[in-house]
Amino acid sequence: MEKPEVRVRYAPSPTGLQHIGGVRTALFNYFFARANGGKFILRIEDTDRERYSDESLDDLYSTLEWLGVKWDEGPVVGGPYGPYVQSERTELYREYAKKLVESGHAYYCYCTPERLEELREKQTKEKKDFGYDRHCRNLTPEQEQAYKDAGIKPVIRLKIPLEGYTEFEDFLLGPMKKRNSDISPDPILLKSDGFPTYHLANVIDDHFMKITHILRAQEWVPSIPLHVQLYKAFGWEPPVYCHLPMVMGSDGQKLSKRHGSTSLRDFRAKGYLPEAILNYVSLIGWSYDDSREFFTRQELEELFCLEKLNKAPGVFDYKKLDWFNGQYIRKKTDAELTELLMPYLEKAGIVHTPMTPEEEEILTKAIPLAKERLKYLSDIPEVIGFLFKAPESYNTEELIPKKLDKERTLELLNVHAGMIPQFIELSEEAIEPVLRAKCDELGVKLGDFLMILRVAVTGTKISPPIVGSIKLLGAEETEKRIQKVINILKDEVTK
Ligand code: GLU
Ligand code: ZN
Repeated sequence: MEKPEVRVRYAPSPTGLQHIGGVRTALFNYFFARANGGKFILRIEDTDRERYSDESLDDLYSTLEWLGVKWDEGPVVGGPYGPYVQSERTELYREYAKKLVESGHAYYCYCTPERLEELREKQTKEKKDFGYDRHCRNLTPEQEQAYKDAGIKPVIRLKIPLEGYTEFEDFLLGPMKKRNSDISPDPILLKSDGFPTYHLANVIDDHFMKITHILRAQEWVPSIPLHVQLYKAFGWEPPVYCHLPMVMGSDGQKLSKRHGSTSLRDFRAKGYLPEAILNYVSLIGWSYDDSREFFTRQELEELFCLEKLNKAPGVFDYKKLDWFNGQYIRKKTDAELTELLMPYLEKAGIVHTPMTPEEEEILTKAIPLAKERLKYLSDIPEVIGFLFKAPESYNTEELIPKKLDKERTLELLNVHAGMIPQFIELSEEAIEPVLRAKCDELGVKLGDFLMILRVAVTGTKISPPIVGSIKLLGAEETEKRIQKVINILKDEVTK
């Protein structure tokens, strides 16, 4: 028999910004579909109207677009099993919830919030876990009629079998089973306002959208027995479950805001490249082999497979992501990088479009130097701003190396002032031995010697290589800046 086409979905609830964990789920589904010639479906699970926000939905679309992830079926693009937005499918959920009542797998429950509250209090007193007491599971027709006459709007609850086990299997986690008496007693499928709960809508949609595999976060494992019971009640076959390895922070705790920002919006604003995020996030809980680290989107679209998921939790390490980002920045051509950096430079007021020919010239020369230094795109104003504008102030703590004092720093700045012609004329290789010899003669460390120069000329410790920077600035401007610092320090020393 021919294998059915792989059909997978990413089914976010638009109740918050897209974060690392969600994006990993989206990517794995997308890659899995691509690698198998299948379909990647986007479904919006927006039945929680209280927590829904337009902002989350916009953020979802713009994040996927930024990552270059396109869905084959879903909102905007449509498809044969739409609509792909749950709030547009409520009629279907109502119809199928009713069918379960008719087939005896579900029932109307008329319990008022007050009754449920009382029940909860009683159970708390008796130190029992809260669970619905199945009060309405076996109402007589007369009792039911009485509730109806009283105008109470019922919910629909699923009949979980009272005995036995629910057995199921997860591709990654293996076979599992749960005692039916441990499944939450008779979960609500349809709320009294006619809206479905997550469980009902999710199962119905996966069935009608012909989903073959469910790849999602492990936090959903506890829902599997209930979903399996729902599939049974409908007489449907559940898809293959594959719950993805957890995402942890470097301290081994589940990744959360405590570890730092996790929303893609923040990563984007800071100037991470989509290639870097996509590459690194794909390695959380998945690896191709023991050594390979670099993957483009296109490569993952071919290579991704479930067999290479790790059972152990994956770690999201901010430092490692930064490293990837630096690598991807260095892979860009100067022209590509310039285009990416312009918004940051403009926002900082360093250049203005259209640029003057002079600005353009400086920028063209600065980008190759900056490329080596950038961790994030947003670093750029700090890294090359000094080429466009002299520093206005100096941080003396940065200027004066730890083991040196003001007087000594002043002396060394005077040495630098005298060396300007050499900085300009000699090549970087040729100047190195000259600098070393000078440092030996003066009894100062090369690192300290150059840091004084760097801070004096650029106002920051993170500028591009200093000799190249001086060549770009020119002798006159460099001289002016060094003199300015000399004067400041002189004033302070003589005070
Ligand atoms: N709407 C659920 C979520 O926000 C979907 C879970 C699932 O994939 O079944 O994660
Ligand atoms: Zn009830």
